[in-house]
Amino acid sequence: GTPFLSVRDLKVHFPTPDGVVKATDGLSFGLERGRTLGIVGESGSGKSVSSSTILGLHRGSRAMVSGEILLDGTDLLSLSDEEMRLRRGREVSMIFQDPLSAMHPYYTVGNQIAEAYRVHNDVNRKQARARAIEMLDRVGIPQPDRRVDDYPHQYSGGMRQRAMIAMGLINDPGLLIADEPTTALDVTVQAQILDLLQDLQKEFNSAIVIITHDLGVVAEMADEVLVMYAGRCVEYGPTKQILTNPEMPYTWGLLSSVPDVTGDTDARLVPIPGNPPSLLNPPTGCAFHPRCTYRDKVPGSLCTTDLPELTPAKSGGFHVRRCHLPDPAAVYAEEVVPEMQ
Ligand code: SF4
Ligand code: MG
Repeated sequence: GTPFLSVRDLKVHFPTPDGVVKATDGLSFGLERGRTLGIVGESGSGKSVSSSTILGLHRGSRAMVSGEILLDGTDLLSLSDEEMRLRRGREVSMIFQDPLSAMHPYYTVGNQIAEAYRVHNDVNRKQARARAIEMLDRVGIPQPDRRVDDYPHQYSGGMRQRAMIAMGLINDPGLLIADEPTTALDVTVQAQILDLLQDLQKEFNSAIVIITHDLGVVAEMADEVLVMYAGRCVEYGPTKQILTNPEMPYTWGLLSSVPDVTGDTDARLVPIPGNPPSLLNPPTGCAFHPRCTYRDKVPGSLCTTDLPELTPAKSGGFHVRRCHLPDPAAVYAEEVVPEMQ
């Protein structure tokens, strides 16, 4: 049957005076409740645009959106703005990298969490406040009955992210989208927040989409991984297979640039050369070709002329990759792995 979340051929295009920016260009994936999908890519790969479209945040912008976003069988793209507003926060919610910019500075943390609850539930202020305190306690805020009346700036970065998670989960949504939820935090706090998300996922049985540039976060959190490049999926599969048998040179680059075990997120062992492409004028053929050092292994000039299809990877299951190499698994084992050691 159809998975709980099913995204089919999602396209999000933005018209600009210089042409159409194809931020997401044909994205498909599925996710069950209780499972976590990591969407990975550099900034400008389309990962944030895709996830905020699931939340309906493109509405009111000039984005041209097509495809399907089925949540529990309902196509979110077919809903009216009002119907989508009713589902946002109740059936799907989002936590952001920077809670300070997502929270209102002049309202207490407790008021904001209580309000997120009151919007979707027939409760009075007192009941909503009690529920906010309960959620603050659940996400590990000390003395929640006192801290509920603090303003966001009185919280530490880690506490704000906990409060944001409390707000995101207060209505028990089936789907939680977390966009770089730990990027701004130091490594110890980051690990605590990821642990918290995993605990809460077990309790709430939510599907989680975690957007990140960090494969370390993916390794820790995700059951499944989707690698995005220039608005397209370039590799997708179970986390274990992506981490041990990746079949796309861009993924190899990401893997070799995972921070070392000291957790220094600036430590790039082998950076991917060059920059992410412009989504306005992406390269022809395989969008990764200007940065790819394996092109000479592909016959002719396919890499620069033809967009590779997503094709099944050697490791099986639903693992697919987009690359013209005749046998990427062999290249990875014989050339990439020895280089990384
Ligand atoms: Fe590299 Fe060609 Fe594969 Fe693209 S299709 S990743 S350019 S080898
Ligand atoms: Mg982003």
